Parts: sequence; C-alpha cells; structure tokens
Amino acid sequence: MKNGKVSLSHRRSHSLETELIHGKSLTKKWDFNHHVVPPISSSCTFRLDTAERGAKGFAEFAHHAKGTAVEGPPPIYIYDRFGEPNKDVLEENLAAAEGGQIAVTFSTGMAAISAVLGAVTAGGDEILAHHMLYGCTYSLLTNWYPRYSISTKFIDFKDTAALRHHLGEHTRVVYFETPVNPTLELIDIEEVVRVVKEANKHRPQNRKIYVIIDNTFASPFCQRPIVHGADFAVSSLTKSICGFGTDMGGVVVGPEWSYDKLLLYRKDFGGALAAKSAWPILVYGLPSLPVRMRQQMDTALAVAQFLEKDERIEFVRYPGLPSFPEYELARKQMRDYEGEFAPGGMLYFSLRGKTPKARHDKGEAFINFLAKNAYSITLAVSLGNIRTLVEHPSSMTHSAIPVAEQVHNGIDPGGVRLSIGLEMAQDIIRDLRRALDSL
Ligand SMILES: *Cc1c(COP(=O)(O)O)cnc(C)c1O
Repeated sequence: MKNGKVSLSHRRSHSLETELIHGKSLTKKWDFNHHVVPPISSSCTFRLDTAERGAKGFAEFAHHAKGTAVEGPPPIYIYDRFGEPNKDVLEENLAAAEGGQIAVTFSTGMAAISAVLGAVTAGGDEILAHHMLYGCTYSLLTNWYPRYSISTKFIDFKDTAALRHHLGEHTRVVYFETPVNPTLELIDIEEVVRVVKEANKHRPQNRKIYVIIDNTFASPFCQRPIVHGADFAVSSLTKSICGFGTDMGGVVVGPEWSYDKLLLYRKDFGGALAAKSAWPILVYGLPSLPVRMRQQMDTALAVAQFLEKDERIEFVRYPGLPSFPEYELARKQMRDYEGEFAPGGMLYFSLRGKTPKARHDKGEAFINFLAKNAYSITLAVSLGNIRTLVEHPSSMTHSAIPVAEQVHNGIDPGGVRLSIGLEMAQDIIRDLRRALDSL
C-alpha cells in the first residue's frame, strides 16, 4: 500500500483494466487435451497468430480437398459462425448417430431444414413432399419458397404409383417425415428411395433428385434414414436429442460432398448453433438418448396397452403395438443402434364419440382436464422431452386446417398426441384414467 492505493501487480507494464481483458492469454492452464468432459468453448472469435495463418484459415474454410471433410487436418478456427470446437465435436457424433458421413448443425430445426433445402434447390426447381408435414416446414414451402420460384407439390407418398408419376423434369427434392406428425402413419423409406433411384438413372448428375427425411419424430436412436438409402436426414435437436427441453438446435446429416455447401450456407444465412447450446447437447443430450428412449419406449408400450383396453378410446396408434396398421413396416424400419425394434415414444389416440364434432369436444375436454389436474402430464407442444407432453392437434398445431380436410389427411377431430417422458408408467396411466373418468 502506497498513498492509500492498492497495487495488485508489481510486474505490470500496462493498466489493470487492460490486463483483466487479456489475462495470461497464452497460459498453460488452457490445456484442453486432458479434460474428461469437453470444456464449454464459447469464443466468438479465434486468435490467428500470424497473417499467413489467418489467410490460410480463410482459404481453407469450406474448401475441403476430396476426402478431407470427414477426417482432415485440424481446422483453423476463425469465427464462431464458421465453426468452433463444441459444434464441430457434436457434429462428428451426430453424423455417427445417423449413420451419415458429415453433419452440420444449425440454430434450430427449421434453420437446418431451410439450409438443406436451400443448399440443393434453385429457382425453377420443384420439391415433391408428402401431404402432411410439420406446420412450419409447410409454411416455408408454401409461403416463402414460391417467392424464389421454388414450387412444392404435395402428394401421398404411400401411393408409390403417384410418387413415380409426379417425379418430373424439375423435381429436385423428395421430402417427408416418418412417422408422420401427428397421425404416426409410416412411409416406407426404402420404397421411396427405390422409386427415386430408378428415376435418377435417366437424369444427368447435376439434376439428380435427393431424398431428404425429417427424422425428428423417431430420433436417430430409433431410425436412421440414411442407412435405408436417403441422401439427407434432418432433425430438430430441440426435441429428443437435447431431451431436457433446455436448448434449441437443428442438424443436417448427409454425404461428404454436401459439407462445404452446408458450411457456406450457414456462414451466409447465419443460423449457427450457439456454442452454449451445442455443449449440453454434446455432453448430456446425445449420450443419454439411448437410455431415455429405452425407458420412454417401455412406458409408451404400457400406456398404449392401457389405452387399447379402455372402451372409451376409439383407437390408439403406437408403432410398437401389434394392432398398429403398419406394424411390419415399423419392425423393418424402426431399429435402434443394436438392431432391436425401437418404435419410439410418441402415441396418437382418439376418444370415442358419435360425430367428428362430439369427438373434437371430448378431446378438448380431456386435454383441459389434464392441463388442470394432471401431475405427470403437461399440456405443451414439443416432444421427446423428459416430461410427458400432451396436445390436441385438431385445435392446436393443426387448427388452421378445416375439420373436413383434417379428417381427409388422417387427423381425427378427437385425436390426442402424447409424447412420453421419463415418469413412471403407472403415474402417467393414473393421470390418463382420471381424465377419462372425468368425461
Ligand atoms: C419441432 C420440429 C421441427 C422444427 O424444429 P425447431 O427446433 O423447433 O425449429 C421440425 N420438424 C419436426 C417434425 C418437429 O417436430
């Protein structure tokens, strides 16, 4: 202490204010090679050391020599939106989980969907899509893409002849979800791939049609579309993969050639996954996906069996029930990492009622009772969460569609969507029984 001033450093040749910005920036304490858990790396920008190394980083970004996108030299990190350690490590693991060559993450599932579609289409192209899609994807295709002269034709992908018939000169993408939200109907991935491959035989390389599947509903633990021949699998990381409902994210998994395109798309359109969100998905979400899904599937089957026996229920659809209309296809297509049958954690069921209006009103009353009285079931959209979530598609997620059209597309006016969480089956069943008794 001198003249009432406290000196914190004897060695300092610059102000403390400056020193507390820079610290010991080259300290040996930044040793990330011995961590068991990867550190949260949250740096928007990266020290480039020399102008030459900086120039090399820019020149190399998204310009991978053939065969180096999957396993190349260590990247020169430049700026978070280009790439950084948490996202890059997560991407390696997501590519492995989906059985694909490369993965690129995005800020949300919708950012991933718009990136893969944006990266492979241009004005004048046509997208062929199943007639039932996640609402925001439907909105992207019908409200925005027409402004860029990218059109979408909606057909029923279960009709192979119609699919073959509609693959036209301008078609560039065949896009669908399986299981379909909310009806849980399945589309045979290998059958669609077979029809598209046949069409591709007669098309030049630069006009090939890509099969893109939104795998969010199943999660990569329960189904890997690329293994069945799809070109790309997209997922919302917000759902089962994060699993705890804390972070948003999206991913595109695909062939090696698409890696640079997707990185450039992310760089310029800007929907990069936050490093702080990549970290929990890398450290908690993806590693715990199998144990969460196994427990959720056991519970989903018990809940489905309970509902199936109750005479107040019109129907219950769960791909793990032998009564499921496409049970054989489910057994072929929905398999876990070890090849075991993995029918997922989503259920769709409807309450009995004489008219569509009566079923609609009953579904709404049932959900309202749950919202007010249930302990283990929460009224909320989203899915794949550790908490069991319920919603009424007819009056919520799909309410923009007139009831007659809902029925035409397989949505029952009384239909209830249930995403099973990690609670004990008997607690979920008790809440459901009380709600049924209240009607
Ligand atoms: C939630 C969801 C999306 C969008 O994901 P976000 O992370 O919310 O952007 C896309 N497809 C399906 C099937 C979804 O359930």
